[in-house]
Amino acid sequence: MVIVISSQPDRYEKLRALSTMAADDVLGRPDPVSQFRRDQTPSQDGRTYRDPYSRPDKNPMPGIYKASMPGGKTISLMRTMFTDYCMMDCHFCPNSHWVPRRRFAYKVDELAKTFAELVERNMVSGLFLSSGIMGGGASRTTEKMVQTVEVIRKRYKFNGYIHLKVMPGTSRDIVEAAHRLGTRLSVNIETPSNPGLQRLSPMKDMGSGILEPMSWIDRLTRARTGETVGQATQMIVGAAEESDSDILDRMSQLYGDWKLKRVYYVPFRPVRYTPMEEHAPTPSEREHRLYQVDWLKRVYRFADDELRLAFDARGFLDLDQDPKAVIALENPAQFPVDLNSADLPALLRTPGIGPVSADRIMRHRRRFTIDNWRDLQAMGVVRKKAAGFVVMPGHRPEPARQLRLQMLGHDEPRASLDLRDVRREAMATLSGRSAAGSQAAPTGQHGDCADRSSCTGCPMFGAPGHPGSATAAPAAVRRQPVMAQ
Ligand code: SF4
Repeated sequence: MVIVISSQPDRYEKLRALSTMAADDVLGRPDPVSQFRRDQTPSQDGRTYRDPYSRPDKNPMPGIYKASMPGGKTISLMRTMFTDYCMMDCHFCPNSHWVPRRRFAYKVDELAKTFAELVERNMVSGLFLSSGIMGGGASRTTEKMVQTVEVIRKRYKFNGYIHLKVMPGTSRDIVEAAHRLGTRLSVNIETPSNPGLQRLSPMKDMGSGILEPMSWIDRLTRARTGETVGQATQMIVGAAEESDSDILDRMSQLYGDWKLKRVYYVPFRPVRYTPMEEHAPTPSEREHRLYQVDWLKRVYRFADDELRLAFDARGFLDLDQDPKAVIALENPAQFPVDLNSADLPALLRTPGIGPVSADRIMRHRRRFTIDNWRDLQAMGVVRKKAAGFVVMPGHRPEPARQLRLQMLGHDEPRASLDLRDVRREAMATLSGRSAAGSQAAPTGQHGDCADRSSCTGCPMFGAPGHPGSATAAPAAVRRQPVMAQ
């Protein structure tokens, strides 16, 4: 008897290997083949397959993950690389030529067929395709990926979402072909500036390799009518010693000049065998704070000058504080905002109030006076964050300006203070806690008001039962309908 042992990986073995390299957010799952055998749902080909999201573990197999789309919709994407072989020397990357390990590569038809099968089984409804750079170079690699997408579009008649990475240094004709077929294109920028890129990826050039293809994509999108092609990019954070302020500068240019849909921030993690294996990893809090600043810029429309208030003198964000709260504390003249009369930009600049809750507040107050936390929380306001920055009947926080002066101290020179400690203390006080964590008395309510010195500035001054009024307080807190505007 002859036993033949094949060293050729099958399509699903490649998918497992290449999808794991494509994203660290893809959850490792059991062998997809054995999982198919356990499946329950009959398919058109007579075999049975399990509904991928019928079980609590959301990602049924490597290569499939859920992605949030604009508008809050979530879709299942097949996320994979065309190949994890790469001729480049990027000092941070597990696919670079520094790392000795087995590599995989699809053939064009093989990848297209695998994706079409997963679509047919209702397991995915979109594709995210990335790659290392094969021996033929960036243009040759992107061309192979474009050919794959062409087969998916034409042979398998797939019209859905395809996010295609364009390799840095790809020629213009291939970028144009990618633009005709993709829903979203991205060239990874990796760092905010060329000196940083040279430190991380000496074989890449920021200008001709990355920014030029990005500008081509932008021009092609502007020239196209009808359905537009979105553009995105990705930065590795903390590997090139860049500051958060450097990242903000690049972020502003990308969102402003080229209308990028998204900039993604990936915290640096050292990879064994690479030149940066001894470099310290970037704390995930930094990634989180950068995403918050990105959100303030894209969704809340904060200006760059406002955002800079969140940075310290070295250009870094406070890892312990929400940047929106830091900006609010640096702007004491703007607070507290009156929930019953503030305009939309003022509400959006208030910690604990987002676009949805700001809109609900605006609509609610056309008919009612906003005067209690229960209604506000039902509208999505985060009381703990907002309490120190808003005013309404029955609630008035300590004036932010006064608080800040107290925190900074009148006599103490500012330079001798750690502003992070000052902010931490201020946030603790404004959210109704002492710095030690004990619960302080609620402010602004007669009887337990913490700031009796400012009664005449309180919206309850003169109301029944409050200072300035001769009548007794009513038995219950009441909701006040007002005239519709
Ligand atoms: S070109 Fe991309 S895949 Fe290749 S080593 Fe650099 S970052 Fe990694």
